[in-house]
Amino acid sequence: MDIKFWGVRGSIPTPITTEQIKEKLIYLAERKPDRQLNNSEELKKFLETVSPLDFGSIGGNTACVEINIDDLTLILDMGSGMKPLGNFIEKNRENYNHIFHILLSHTHWDHISGLPFFKPAHQSDCQLRFYSPLENLKVRLEYQQDHRFFPVGFELLKAKKSFYQLKEELFQIGHTEISYLLQNHPGTSYSYRLKDNNKIAIYMTDVFLEKPNEAVIRFCQGADVLIFDSQFSREEISDKKDYGHSIGETGVDLAVAAGVRKLVLFHHDPDKTDLEIEKNLQQVKQHHQQNYSRSELDIQLAYEGMKITI
Ligand SMILES: [Zn+2]
Ligand SMILES: [Zn+2]
Repeated sequence: MDIKFWGVRGSIPTPITTEQIKEKLIYLAERKPDRQLNNSEELKKFLETVSPLDFGSIGGNTACVEINIDDLTLILDMGSGMKPLGNFIEKNRENYNHIFHILLSHTHWDHISGLPFFKPAHQSDCQLRFYSPLENLKVRLEYQQDHRFFPVGFELLKAKKSFYQLKEELFQIGHTEISYLLQNHPGTSYSYRLKDNNKIAIYMTDVFLEKPNEAVIRFCQGADVLIFDSQFSREEISDKKDYGHSIGETGVDLAVAAGVRKLVLFHHDPDKTDLEIEKNLQQVKQHHQQNYSRSELDIQLAYEGMKITI
């Protein structure tokens, strides 16, 4: 199972600013070796010694994760990250069978706004299969592209579209077993559990989880990777319980209780810079070390372009 992150930001697309690029350049200059870096080869070698997050960006696109299992392509959410995903598919047409299975957590803007910009949606030889427990998903997507809000109507997307309202708690796409869980989020949202060849990935975003309960621990049990909504920091959450998002520390508590191997912090706050998000990661790791000294949980930040194979 290959997982690739195309959009990791929460709430609204957040391009990196000139000020933030300046901060990164200063950070890199402070770490540069004493000798001159006279050519692009030397510079490239130096950049290989620092984290991609220190010279690149965590990314400003909203939620979109691609999962490939053999020739099956699943797409989790259609945030603005779906646009670069579509461009990538265009350039690598031979690697895709052009049937895209799209699982939606919910239909807040940051999870659907990429669809009209997804190039394969404009091609008649492509199929989009939408899955969600929501009963009126098609109406919602048509509404997003109503002419009052968007120039190109949903009906003008040439791809063959089909809708599957999920009713059974466990269903199958290809040989991948999928289940979902209703979450606490304004307007409701759902998390997904994907199991294939004894590998398990959990996509759990847009959820306010005060602390892990029995149902959610059972849902995540034994997962290889848990992608978890970590929009806020420990200090912020007490004022923001109604916003429907969680903190990384709760992700740690959940991951340890459920025996998860890797926790990926996701749906980053659009009001935080990369440095602030990285600082929050350190705080989450500290929580893990202080409370679960024997746990071997791996914790990392989701960033655009990140790939995980399980
Ligand atoms: Zn969201
Ligand atoms: Zn939401």
